[in-house]
Amino acid sequence: MDRELNPWLAAEARFDEAAARLELDEGLRKVLRSPSREITVYIPVQLDDNRIEVFTGYRVQHSIARGPAKGGLRYAPDVTLEEVRALASWMTWKCAVANIPYGGGKGGVICNPTIMSMGELERITRRYTAEIIEFIGPEKDIPAPDMNTNEQVMAWMMDTYSMHMRQTTTGVVTGKPLDLGGSRGRPEATGRGCMIVTLEALKRFKIPPENASVVIQGFGNVGGMAARLMSKRGFRIVCIIEYDGAVYNAKGLDIEKLMQHKKETGSINDFPGGENIDREQALFQKCDVLLPAAKENVITSLTAPKLQCKIITEGANGPTTPPADKILEDKGIFVIPDILANAGGVTVSYFEWVQDRQGYFWNESEVNDRLEAIMINGFNDVMKFHEKYKTNNRTAAYMLALDRVAFAIKLRGLYA
Ligand code: NAD
Repeated sequence: MDRELNPWLAAEARFDEAAARLELDEGLRKVLRSPSREITVYIPVQLDDNRIEVFTGYRVQHSIARGPAKGGLRYAPDVTLEEVRALASWMTWKCAVANIPYGGGKGGVICNPTIMSMGELERITRRYTAEIIEFIGPEKDIPAPDMNTNEQVMAWMMDTYSMHMRQTTTGVVTGKPLDLGGSRGRPEATGRGCMIVTLEALKRFKIPPENASVVIQGFGNVGGMAARLMSKRGFRIVCIIEYDGAVYNAKGLDIEKLMQHKKETGSINDFPGGENIDREQALFQKCDVLLPAAKENVITSLTAPKLQCKIITEGANGPTTPPADKILEDKGIFVIPDILANAGGVTVSYFEWVQDRQGYFWNESEVNDRLEAIMINGFNDVMKFHEKYKTNNRTAAYMLALDRVAFAIKLRGLYA
């Protein structure tokens, strides 16, 4: 089971399968597997009690074949170079599926942000940025928020970079506050992307959204936004599952009221507009769409056999293990894989970078219309690979991504 739950082995397994199906040249496979650059930095920081601590930080650029590297920066005590390296390659495939002109990157600093003051976080962020400054930039590598980093951290990174360059350079990071070159529509983007691809999948089942029942796991940024937008669009959100309980209403939950209830009580439990149900069993109820939007490794060889949904929209990263893929395929469940389903976030990050470089900002409907076009194209492109190679949707998405990146590498040639 440990091997099944290892997301890096899972990413490798999917890479190998897609490369084999594409009959990709062994040399190209080596190039695609290897990161283009890995940077380790040691960050000395004076803590509030005057002690000096040295933190370790990483930035990995997996690929720059299709454009500058793009990917988040996470702060956590268990960050490792292996994890950052795997997440960077994940970003390469996600950007390629969405067909946005980026490679993949990722960064991390080993620290515990829950016990650090704002001042300490600011000093870590600024020194980390200064240490990697020659490797990042709007044309090189564009970090973004990830686990335990946010728009304030991005504002500090942007300011540090700009001070060194002697000019304000908003396009060096995305996920910034709206007043500092952020984009409209970013907070909703991942949830909105999930809704767009789910609508496309429902067309294949000839189910109108008004007749579609949806179960969502996770009521945070992705799950909460998806619930809100899908509910407005007419979907029946019958169940929300959180880490401490699940709430159900066969007629559809009132999502705005549930959000208010969670805000007031700190939990979705005991919501007057629904009933509490067992959170373990909630995943296995009959529904049209299951949207895991909480964490990795939810759909495994143990849980997949019990699922009764028609469509799975993977809002979270890595919610399904490779052995579960096979089970879902045999059950005929239509999976919209994470590298497609949750690509709405990085797509609107791309829009933020475009707007920063233009110095001209779009209204929300422009952002949403362009997001819709990119998500639908990505969905259709994955379907073409699915049909051509008669493979499941996940393998099709990886094949599409590998094919696009390999094609760019071949066109550019190897610089010697
Ligand atoms: P978040 O922290 O805002 O929300 C996660 C929610 O899941 C929280 O409400 C949490 O209480 C709940 N949760 C945690 N463990 C759970 C469990 N065992 N069962 C049920 N609920 C549980 O995080 P997020 O930004 O919404 O990210 C969720 C997932 O989506 C992650 O895998 C993340 O990597 C992925 N993702 C997020 C974005 C984005 O733009 N935020 C983009 C791409 C992918």
